[in-house]
Amino acid sequence: MKPALTALRAGDLVIMPTETVYGLAADARDARAVAKIFAAKGRPRFNPLIAHVADVSAAVALADMDSRALRLAEAFWPGPLTLVAPARPDCSVSDLARAGLDTIAVRVPAHPLALALLRAFGGPLAAPSANRSGRPSPTTLAAALAETGPYAAAALDGGPCQVGLESTVVSVLDGPPRLLRPGAVTRGQIEDLIGPLAEAESDARRSPGRLTRHYAPQAPVRLDAAAPRPGEAYLAFGPCPEGPATFNLSASGDLAEAAANLFAFLRAADAGSPVAIAVAPIPGTGLGEAINDRLRRAAGWVG
Ligand code: AMP
Ligand code: MG
Repeated sequence: MKPALTALRAGDLVIMPTETVYGLAADARDARAVAKIFAAKGRPRFNPLIAHVADVSAAVALADMDSRALRLAEAFWPGPLTLVAPARPDCSVSDLARAGLDTIAVRVPAHPLALALLRAFGGPLAAPSANRSGRPSPTTLAAALAETGPYAAAALDGGPCQVGLESTVVSVLDGPPRLLRPGAVTRGQIEDLIGPLAEAESDARRSPGRLTRHYAPQAPVRLDAAAPRPGEAYLAFGPCPEGPATFNLSASGDLAEAAANLFAFLRAADAGSPVAIAVAPIPGTGLGEAINDRLRRAAGWVG
């Protein structure tokens, strides 16, 4: 913990575990530190970063959270939900981290190491996933180190990520709340609390995580595949015969297990340089919405 704190205070980058995926963290108030994140990831500067904070009161100091946002925060924080709200006029997060927007994305992560680091640091941490831009998110320290390790001054090992998919992103601005990115907190859970969610605008700049071909391995990805073709690796779901290049996301058909395995298995399948990675059909309900969202982006289907 101490080397990580020292690095953050010096304006350097730290690989940090969260319950969703590993993050590449920097002091969100320090534009020079934040610039190192964009450089390490090769991330376009128009794609804003999430500010991670230790608790609701730290979020309220940055974002103008209305009653709907507060209800969601109370229900799901610490946890895999990011809220986009108007930035307060005195918001300390740098313009660069917010990509110049007048809104800000905030989250309280649930991983004990992330929370301990945030409490000890005492300020907001900008922390996108620790992968190079466009690639699958790392869900183990080893995967994170392989992606952006050379750019980090310190790294914390929190074990494999429990959720395995990036946080749900909901914007709570004027008008109806919008689901910008599906995740482990499901559409149904959110609608139960604050009513119907509108669809995200098609303008990718409003939530650039919606770019085509995101979360992508090197090999092409073929979706809804009942079985692999010769030369393909196969991500199965549910009962399936074992094969040399078959990775079963969940033999019992459990969506939470499949989400936790998704990015690690995409990487493992990719490592064998298959002609393609074929993926079994996965139900689209509940957590399945987020899994299918990442798979469509990995396949380059989403515009
Ligand atoms: P990542 O940090 O890679 O998990 O991505 C963060 C996601 O939150 C991306 O899809 C961003 O576009 C989105 N995001 C962050 N800040 C904002 C914001 N102010 N308005 C809309 N989306 C945002
Ligand atoms: Mg990311």
